Amino acid sequence: MPDQSLYIHVPFCKRACHYCDFHFSTVQKHKKEVLEAMLLELDLRKGELPDRNLCSIYFGGGTPSLLSISELNVFFDHIARYFNWGRKTEITLEANPDDLSEAYLKSLLKETPINRLSIGVQSFAEEDLRYMGRIHTAREAEEVLFKAQDLGFEKLSIDLIFGGPTTSDEIWAANLEKAASLQVQHLSCYALTVEERTALGYRVRKDLSPQPSESRAARQFEYLMAFAERQDYEPYEISNFARKGHRAIHNSLYWQGAPYLGIGPSAHSFDGHRRRRWNVANNGLYLKCLTTGQPPWEEECLTSEQRYNELVLTRLRTLEGLSAKAIQDLGENYLQHFLRQAKSLQAEKLLEEEKGWYRLSRAGRLLADFVARELFWV
Ligand code: SF4
Repeated sequence: MPDQSLYIHVPFCKRACHYCDFHFSTVQKHKKEVLEAMLLELDLRKGELPDRNLCSIYFGGGTPSLLSISELNVFFDHIARYFNWGRKTEITLEANPDDLSEAYLKSLLKETPINRLSIGVQSFAEEDLRYMGRIHTAREAEEVLFKAQDLGFEKLSIDLIFGGPTTSDEIWAANLEKAASLQVQHLSCYALTVEERTALGYRVRKDLSPQPSESRAARQFEYLMAFAERQDYEPYEISNFARKGHRAIHNSLYWQGAPYLGIGPSAHSFDGHRRRRWNVANNGLYLKCLTTGQPPWEEECLTSEQRYNELVLTRLRTLEGLSAKAIQDLGENYLQHFLRQAKSLQAEKLLEEEKGWYRLSRAGRLLADFVARELFWV
């Protein structure tokens, strides 16, 4: 299989979660037209991937589990015109617990090629879910995980959020224990962040909600790292933890800099070398572009400096880290710059080196953005 993937962004949600600044609309009046435009976009852009074979197909969003089985299969029929997938291809659907009825889960398994679910659980505590404005209950999330496993989904991932004002250390520990006891093999764990254009951003600005505490997030991240070690979840990326054999192919390809084609409003694409494209994050404009023959994307050609910075940013987040050889391939000047900057980070024990590979230390993982900034070419 070549290392390339297809991403489909489904830009609709039933309701806006308070913290979320992904692109989505809660108005589904033009859903049919937007989905048709996405198929048209695939027709136009199929040639942007170097090969027919896909290692990963990922339906993200938004809420892809809002799509019916027949809507999903229209996508698969269309994708099959231009691309191949096989038994080893990871085919993921991001899903919210409230959409995953037993009938829907059964049909996903029997009638579509989807073989992995990434479920937006966020927490198993009701007070967290209320604070975040999630539409489902903790009980629903737990039941869905049982059901999906019972029905035969072997690849399950859940998202969990820590560091929020309602997430006490006890709740965070209980969330992680619950995930392990439910035999979830892949966890994506994120610190709650306050984004300006969200309900939470508004509430924090107006002093209606406290600013999440950095020290709580740091403490809970430390706990997460210790938990992962204890429970055999490999911390293969800063926010992603997998039991043996359960690393997400889609995420891994992205961090390796492999080519991907992103379809749908706000989706990004990369040709694996220098060209990045990003689609307009507005359903109406996206529709207008595709129905009037305009490209819905903007693009940039990365300079060598940007490529170096991206390499540092993405690879350093991974367990394997960044090799001196990969930097040298971009130019000796980048390697010399990196080595100069790395010295003080190593002295501060934020960065470690072994046989030419540079990795974040445990303390460095807490300060990953700072470490990357120190190493950037500015
Ligand atoms: S977190 Fe997911 S379900 Fe909630 S608004 Fe964002 S994309 Fe939609």
